[in-house]
Amino acid sequence: MAVKLVDEPRLKVRNLQVEYHTRRGIVRAVQDVSFDVYPNEVFGLAGESGCGKSTIAHAVTRILKPPAYITGGEILCNGTDILMMGTETLRRFRWEHMSIVFQSAMNALNPVLTVGEQIIDAIQAHVLTPKKQARQQALDLLQIVGIDPGRIDSYPHQLSGGMRQRAVIAIALALKPELIIMDEPTTALDVVVQKQIMQEIRQLKNKFGFSILFITHDLSLLVEFSDRIGIMYAGELVEVSPSREIFQNPRHPYTMRLMNSFPTITGPRQDMLGIPGAPPDLVSPPSGCRFHPRCSVALAGRCQEEHPLLKTVSPRHEVACHLAESEAVKHGG
Ligand code: SF4
Repeated sequence: MAVKLVDEPRLKVRNLQVEYHTRRGIVRAVQDVSFDVYPNEVFGLAGESGCGKSTIAHAVTRILKPPAYITGGEILCNGTDILMMGTETLRRFRWEHMSIVFQSAMNALNPVLTVGEQIIDAIQAHVLTPKKQARQQALDLLQIVGIDPGRIDSYPHQLSGGMRQRAVIAIALALKPELIIMDEPTTALDVVVQKQIMQEIRQLKNKFGFSILFITHDLSLLVEFSDRIGIMYAGELVEVSPSREIFQNPRHPYTMRLMNSFPTITGPRQDMLGIPGAPPDLVSPPSGCRFHPRCSVALAGRCQEEHPLLKTVSPRHEVACHLAESEAVKHGG
């Protein structure tokens, strides 16, 4: 099923702001972030640790707890603002329309209930379903995610890491949500199992047509698996593009460095440059472009003073950089 960006987005995030109120001061973890996720699309978020990508996942699912506060913006899922929902509406909305897969399946699963009981609970908490029918649905879901249905009465500790993560995916799929948030869903697994599970998730997405907001620090996995990618730096979105284009033609100096920080097996051999310095302290982020203290091509004066906005530099490709912006003008983009 092809992704059509002309459809109404399933998830619209607009001008999202998240702060952590700490003893050291207010950490502006997410600053004015906007993006869309379309039907049947995988939208990936990437960036260094602390860039705000997981905070966005937690904000979208509204599981942020103090000292984290959403201080501005809108999060619209199927046109409904998640931030305006009451507790009961939100409880129903989660799992029925939007579900979550986190990194550690062992933490997500209840150790004293069998996987079957946990899938059945998820179904019966939202839809009036007789136990026998819910158990049959659980058996079907286990089959769908590649677990032998005969393991329905196994406890989480009796399953391998890969099977536990598959069980979490089965729970996430139980109510056929339109959007699944996946935050480092396979990070704890070895690369072979990781690849298998990601391929299965893609097949399930194509079969059921849900959308995925995919968050990982693993850039190669992100490029391979996502339709479009947003690059985060210091709480801001600095580049958004189809994944192939961002991989082949990154336009933001930070993205260029990021793409150069991991080796390719098939491409030409080249030195990896890495990114000099460290991400800024978000209690007092740098003025102008937040990347300017680490940027080797910063424009004297302008980059320290003027904050770059995300602008379209070529079709479906947005960049927040004064340099990319002037090149787009030069090339008529
Ligand atoms: Fe570098 Fe300036 Fe672009 Fe920021 S705006 S990435 S400092 S060139």
